[in-house]
Amino acid sequence: MADSDKAKELGKADRDIVALGIATASIILFVTAGGQVVPDAVLAIMGKGVGPDKLLANAMLLNIVLLVFGWRRYRELTDEIAERRKAEECARRLAEIDPLTGCLNRRSMAERTAELCDKAAASNRAVAYAMIDLDDFKRVNDVNGHAAGDGMLVQIAQRLQQCLPENALLARLGGDEFAIVTMFDPAHREHIDDLISRIYDATGALAASSGPVIGTTLSIGVAAVESGGSPQDSKINVQTLMHHADIAMYHAKKQGKDRYSWFEPSMVSELRMRHELEASIRYGIAAGEFVPYYEQQIDLETGELVGFEMLARWESPKLGLTLPEVFIPIAEEMGVIGDLSEGLMIQAFADARNWDPALTLAVNISPIQLRDPWFAEKILKLLVMHNFPPQRLEIEITESCMLDNVAMVRSMIENLRTQGIRISLDDFGAGYSTLEQLRALPFDRLKIDRSFIAEVRSPHSSTKIVDAIISLGNGLKLPITAEGIEDEQILERLKSMGNLKGQGYYYGHPETAAQVHERLTNSGRLASSGPSPDHGRGPGIVSAHDLGVGEQPMTASGRA
Ligand code: C2E
Ligand code: MG
Ligand code: MG
Repeated sequence: MADSDKAKELGKADRDIVALGIATASIILFVTAGGQVVPDAVLAIMGKGVGPDKLLANAMLLNIVLLVFGWRRYRELTDEIAERRKAEECARRLAEIDPLTGCLNRRSMAERTAELCDKAAASNRAVAYAMIDLDDFKRVNDVNGHAAGDGMLVQIAQRLQQCLPENALLARLGGDEFAIVTMFDPAHREHIDDLISRIYDATGALAASSGPVIGTTLSIGVAAVESGGSPQDSKINVQTLMHHADIAMYHAKKQGKDRYSWFEPSMVSELRMRHELEASIRYGIAAGEFVPYYEQQIDLETGELVGFEMLARWESPKLGLTLPEVFIPIAEEMGVIGDLSEGLMIQAFADARNWDPALTLAVNISPIQLRDPWFAEKILKLLVMHNFPPQRLEIEITESCMLDNVAMVRSMIENLRTQGIRISLDDFGAGYSTLEQLRALPFDRLKIDRSFIAEVRSPHSSTKIVDAIISLGNGLKLPITAEGIEDEQILERLKSMGNLKGQGYYYGHPETAAQVHERLTNSGRLASSGPSPDHGRGPGIVSAHDLGVGEQPMTASGRA
C-alpha cells in the first residue's frame, strides 16, 4: 500500500472517534433514562410502585446494548490504530536501514547529514563526511565466498560503530562502501584525524587476516563543510560534501590504498584527467593504438639471441608513446585488460611468425586475467586462430597472482603446459611468494627482478641475494633469466654465477616490430621474407611519472 493510502486509512481510523462520541452519547442517555427507570423499577420491586414506563425501560435496554457495542468498537479501533502505527514505524525503519549491517542506508544518510549540517550551522560547528571503501573487496568475495564477505561487512560495521563519537552517523552506502558523518570544531581538524586513526586501529586486525581467509584494508576520503546554511543550501552542501569525500577516497586509492586523504580542490582536475585517460584507453583499444614492442632475450653464455619479450606500448595521439606502468593498472581496474592483452598477442603472433621459429615469444599476463576460468582456453583458441605454435610461447606471470586462488592458478598453468606453453615467474623476489607456493606451482623458469641484478654492478657489492636465488632455481630445477642487465660489468659478474639467460638495456631498449624485423633481417634470422611490419616509434615516451599516475608520494593527511 502506498504511503498516502496508509495515511488516509489511519486518518479514517482516527476519525472513528465518532464511535467514541456515540458511546458517550449512549452513556448520557443511559444516565438520563436510567435516572427514571431504575428508581421506578426499585420501587416496583419493593411493592411501592407500578414499575417503570415500558417504553423508557426498552429504550434503556437498547441503550445498554449500544453502549457495549460502541465501547467494543472503540477498543477495537484504538488497538487497530496502535498496530498500524507500529507496522508503519517498522516499515519506516526498514526503509532507512541497511538490512545486513543495521547501519543507515544511502537515502537516509543523505537526509540525516542535511539535518546535521543545519544543526552544525546553528552552533558554528563544522561537519566532516568520511567515505570509507574496502580495498579489493571483490577479491575477498571471490576467494572467501560471499557468506564470508557478508560476515566481514558486518564485522567492519560493528568496529566502525565502536569508534563513532557521540551523535555521529554511520551508513553503509552499498556494496563495500561505508560513510561516517560527524560534527566537529572547525579549529580542531585533528579530532577527525584522530577518529580516522581509531578506525584504522579498530579494523586493522581484519586487514591482517591471513590463511585461507583474505583480509581487507580501508581507503578513506574526508571532506568537511563549515556551515550548513538554510535547509535548501544544506541539501546542496550534502551533495557536494559527499562528492568531495568520494573524490578524496578515490585519491587515497590511487595513492596505494589502505590510507586516507582530506579533500583538496586539485583532486577534481586529477579525477577529470583520470576519466579522460580511461575514455582514451577504451577508444585506443578499439582503434589499435596499443602495440607490441620487443626486448631481446639472450643466452648469456653464448651471447646468442634466443627470443623476445613482448612489452606493451600505447601510441597515444594525445600523450605520445606511453609506458605500460601508466595504462596497465588502469586497464586492469576498468576490466579491459583481457581485451588489451588479446589485441597485443594477436599482433605479436603475426610479427613472430616472420621470425626464425627457434625464437621464443614471451608475453606478460596480468593477475586479473588469471582470475578468468576460461583464460587457458582463450589463449589456446588465439594460438589456433592465428596459427602460432604453443611451443614458442612463454607466459610471464608475477608473484601477485599467487595471492589469489593458488589451486585455480595451478590447474590453469598445468592446462597451458600440457599444450606446450611454458610459464615463467616474472620479477621474482620483488613480491611475496613463499617457497611452498613456488614448489606448488609448476613453473618452467624464474626471472630475477632487476632490482637485485642492479646490485651486482659494483665489483665490491654483495651478490648474496642473486646467488641465493640462483641456487634456489638450481634446487628446484628451474632455469633462470636475469632482468635489467644494463652494462658489461653486470653481464660479466652474472656470467660467472651460472648458466643464465638475460635481458636488459645493455642489449638494447625494447624495439618496434619494424626494428626487430630489420635486426633479424641483418642477422639472417627471419623465417621467410615476410612483409615488413610498419609500426613506428613515437617521439618521446610517456611514463607514470609524467602523468602523476601510479606513484606513491603521500599527502600530508595520508598514512604511509
Ligand atoms: P617486466 O615484464 O618485468 O618487463 C621488463 C621491464 O623492464 C620493461 O619495462 C623493460 O623496458 C624494462 N627494462 C628492461 N631492461 C631494463 C634495464 O636494463 N634497466 C631498466 N631500468 N629497465 C629495463 P616496461 O616495458 O615499462 O614494462 C614494465 C612492466 O609492465 C613489465 O615488467 C610488465 O610487468 C608490464 N607489462 C608490459 N607489457 C605488458 C602486457 O602486455 N601485459 C601486462 N599485463 N603487463 C605488461
Ligand atoms: Mg615480464
Ligand atoms: Mg620482469
